[in-house]
Amino acid sequence: MSINLISDTVTKPTPGMLKAMWAAEVGDDVFREDPTAAALEEKCADMFGMESALFCPSGTMANQIALKVHTRPLDEVICDEMSHIYQYEVGGYAFHSGIGVNLLKGENGILTAKMVEAAIKPPYDWLPKSSLVVIENTCNKGGGSTYSLETIKQIGEVCKKHGLAYHMDGARLFNALVETGNTPKEIGSEMDSISICLSKGLGAPVGSVLIGEQSFIKEARRVRKAMGGGMRQVGYLAAAGIYALDHHIERLSEDHENARQLASVLNELPWVSNIRPVQTNILIFDLEPPLSPGILLEKLMQNGVLASAFGPQTIRFVTHLDVTAHMIAQTARILHKIAG
Ligand SMILES: *Cc1c(COP(=O)(O)O)cnc(C)c1O
Repeated sequence: MSINLISDTVTKPTPGMLKAMWAAEVGDDVFREDPTAAALEEKCADMFGMESALFCPSGTMANQIALKVHTRPLDEVICDEMSHIYQYEVGGYAFHSGIGVNLLKGENGILTAKMVEAAIKPPYDWLPKSSLVVIENTCNKGGGSTYSLETIKQIGEVCKKHGLAYHMDGARLFNALVETGNTPKEIGSEMDSISICLSKGLGAPVGSVLIGEQSFIKEARRVRKAMGGGMRQVGYLAAAGIYALDHHIERLSEDHENARQLASVLNELPWVSNIRPVQTNILIFDLEPPLSPGILLEKLMQNGVLASAFGPQTIRFVTHLDVTAHMIAQTARILHKIAG
């Protein structure tokens, strides 16, 4: 069996999760008749101390719905240049919402309140209207970097002061919470909306949840339907999400420990440089020429380790539910052996 470090999206449902899915009570969720989907949504809203939630087929859809509901055409969203909503959602902000992006250069994808405030445009007729701030916690392209609660609050104060909405792309928010020790409610009380992924570190096969105020989620449900994301007996998937929230949060710290272990191995290798600070389950580093990602990935693959290039000279490793400490030790041996 290969050791798959390509992404935390590659996990397969565990036997316990499959059992929960098998046993789910379902109904037609477009008619609001699926009790398991409703239970997942209520569980998420309660967890974050927010009013309401909406199960979505993907994190991309959850984010795109948030952009759509929080903005009007000709507005702009303020975010880091590394943001998933800018880099990896096909330019959907322009397509679905008719808005622009105001890109900031944070530290490993992490913004400050000062940077955000300086980016807000004055209300002239000839300027886009700054109406939304999106922060990504953890930031994928930033190497799994986390926001401190302090910074989240400070940016929130700027948003309130200037009347901007405030959304968190929390695809890997639970990785951040496990690491910082903050509670979901501490985050929920600062944000207008949050998206979380069930299909990343939490190990569910499909799904994300968008969380916010009742009026926001009411509108979000309509936009989800317009995007083709209204699903019928979706409780089978929601059951996997409930199981993941009940069983797979605390264990994320094992993934972080595994990522740190790998980082310490990489630190000893002469052909590795610029290892980004490892805060959670993502490990990004550069290769010293003449070694290239193509060559390294090929050698890793021959030894049963899968990973991906993350730039012309850059590699990303991601740890997750299906990567054990034993596999990390094996990967360490392989790294020492090859490309030496
Ligand atoms: C994975 C991810 C998403 C959404 O992903 P989907 O593949 O659409 O479920 C959104 N934001 C971040 C930061 C992500 O890593």
